Formats: sequence, structure tokens, C-alpha cells
Amino acid sequence: MSSTKKEKKQAPSPRNEGKKRVAVIPGDGIGQEVIPQAVKVIQATGANVELTEFDWGADRYLRDGTTVPADGFAMLARDFDAILVGAFGDPRVKTNIHAKEILLGMRFKMDLYANVRPVRLLDAALCPLKGVEPKDVDFVVLRENTEGVYTDAGGVFKGGTPDEIATQEDINTRKGVERIIRYAFQYCEQHTKLDGSPCKTVLMCDKSNAMTHAGGLWQRVFKEVSGEYPHITAQHMYVDALCMQMVRDPRQFDVIVTNNMFGDIITDLAAGLQGGLGMAASGNIHPGRTSMFEPVHGSAPPIAGKNVANPFGAILTAAMMLRHLEFEKEAGKIEAAVLAAVREKKTTQDIGGKLGTKEAAEWVALRVGQG
Ligand code: ATP
Repeated sequence: MSSTKKEKKQAPSPRNEGKKRVAVIPGDGIGQEVIPQAVKVIQATGANVELTEFDWGADRYLRDGTTVPADGFAMLARDFDAILVGAFGDPRVKTNIHAKEILLGMRFKMDLYANVRPVRLLDAALCPLKGVEPKDVDFVVLRENTEGVYTDAGGVFKGGTPDEIATQEDINTRKGVERIIRYAFQYCEQHTKLDGSPCKTVLMCDKSNAMTHAGGLWQRVFKEVSGEYPHITAQHMYVDALCMQMVRDPRQFDVIVTNNMFGDIITDLAAGLQGGLGMAASGNIHPGRTSMFEPVHGSAPPIAGKNVANPFGAILTAAMMLRHLEFEKEAGKIEAAVLAAVREKKTTQDIGGKLGTKEAAEWVALRVGQG
């Protein structure tokens, strides 16, 4: 059975056969609403997990100036099997320093290089496109998660003057590009579509016609690695063309692999195909290491504290985490319950229902408990 602890009161229990330990960091804004609901749903599955909550986020930062406690990332990697995160960002912290240090810190310092973002439409009613069925929107975006412009390399010269110069470097290493592309081919080999058919294509997206240096590296590595997987079709699109194709014909995609920034942008578009940001799940993975799972949405300050945030992105993220921890049956139960909630309109308003955050999640938890 699952159990919960608060960080300071108790350290995680000793490891025992089968039990997995999960660090839970709700963070800010709607993260504080949706993550406790996702936790309830995990508990309803009866999975053998121990959940330990951490208060990292804006409130703590404003209270004592701590973003990540000393040794924080090493502790997560050492003591936990997975991390469930909400969102970071609070209008009271103008610099957003805590979000940067916690979220980007986790991705970079724990080297969680594969940001896995499944794009699945649960019900035709949720998709803004005409005539599109759930079987037509079933692909995954693999976003490089440790490099690109998010490393914040660069600077400002002559700041605040008419001669100001700002640079933002796009960092692409051979190692970083190769491992995410290889991950994409392996992912394609190991996964099937929801209808049971095999994944057949890996599409690499870049802007190598304009960004020739970084794009050239991605092109070369993609060509090399795809040669090792002759049974998988390798495709390429420029990011602008991909955006148009995702709207015109989402059926054509299986696995899309791209850099950090393009991945960030196209997965908001992809979330739109699924019913909005409130429906999208993600995992930040380094195979064999403690990985982190978070809904795609941010802290959404305008709707925080109102019990209106859609908890399904967080709940589907919890399912993704359980599957990663090899609780396949429990993950399947959660996904089936969310599907039932969508079909029966037991949802929040953003996707056409009348329930609040808690009520929608409680419906799912009850269904999971019955399943
Ligand atoms: P970030 O850059 O941190 O990802 P963002 O600025 O892109 O964040 P979000 O915080 O994700 O944006 O939210 C943008 C808007 O999307 C919100 O103001 C809200 O209207 C909507 N939204 C996001 N998440 C949800 C949700 N779970 N339920 C309902 N609406 C949501």
C-alpha cells in the first residue's frame, strides 16, 4: 500500500523489495492544487509506493531564501526512485530564480536528458480540429532537455544603453544530440501505438536551413544514428513546417525528436490537440537514474487557488511515473479512469465539464479504487 511522509519529520524508510520511493514537490500555483489530487489517485491504485513531500517553491524561497537545500539533488538521486513535480513560477518572485534553480536545476544537474511528452487525444470532443478521432492523435515528442538556449549561456553588453547587445547561445554538444536521437530510435523500437500497431517513424525537427551550425550537427548525427535502425523510417521537417503539419494532419507522426526550445514550443501546440495544457503529461528521463515527472503546464497564476485547474495532466503524469516504476497495472487503471471521466464529462470546465479540480480528481480516484 502507498504511504505518505513529510520531508522534515521522517527520512525515507529503508529500501525493501518492490516498494518504490517517490519525492513529491507540488511547487507553486496550480501545482499545489493538482499534485495533491494526483497523489490521492496514486494512493487509490494501492501501488507499493512511499511518497515523501517537499516544500520547495516560492513560499519557501520567500520565507528563508532557499531554492534547493544543500545536497538537494544528490539526496533526490540517492534516496528516491522517482520525483513527482507540479509547477514553478510565482508573480511574487520577479526573477523566477527559484523556478530556474529547482526545475532547470533538476533537469540539468540530474542530467535528465530526455523530456518525454506523449500526445494522445482521449476523446474527439476535446480536439479543436474537425473530423479528428483519438486514433489520429497518438504520437510522442522527445525534447532534448539539458542543452540548447535553456543553458542561459550568453550575456548583455552595454546594458540599458542604446548600444545594448544581448546574446543567448544555443548550446548543442555531439554527446547531447546523439543521446537524445538514439533515445528516439530506441523509444520507437520499444513502443506501440494505442491501437497496438508498431511505431514506424522517427521524425527529427530542426531549423537547419537558418541555424546552420547547430542544425548541421543535428542533421549529421541523425543521419548516422538512423543508419543503425534500418527498420525505422527516418524523416525530417523544419520546425515551421512541422507546426503546420501537426494541425493539418497529426495522423502522420509516431516519434518526434527535437531540441529544447522547439520541443517546448511544439508541445504547447500538441497540448492544444489533446484538449489544452491541462491534459498533457511528461517525464524527464535519464535511463537507469532517478527521473522526474511533471505535467506540461506551468503554475498558471491567473487560475491558481480557485479549484478550477484541470488535474488530469498531473494525474496522467502520475500514471506515466507508475509505469516507469513498473506498476503497469496501476498506471493502466488510472488511464482508464481518466478516459471514463472524459467520456462521462466528469471534468473541469476547460474541457467542457462542470466539476472543480478536487471533484474531478475524486471521481477518478473513486473509479480507480473500484477498478
Ligand atoms: P510555463 O512557461 O511555466 O510552462 P506558461 O506561462 O506557458 O507556463 P501556464 O502556467 O502553463 O503557462 O498556463 C497558461 C494558461 O493555460 C493558464 O493561465 C491557464 O489559462 C491555462 N492552463 C494551464 N494549465 C491549466 C490547467 N491545468 N487547467 C486549466 N487551464 C490551464
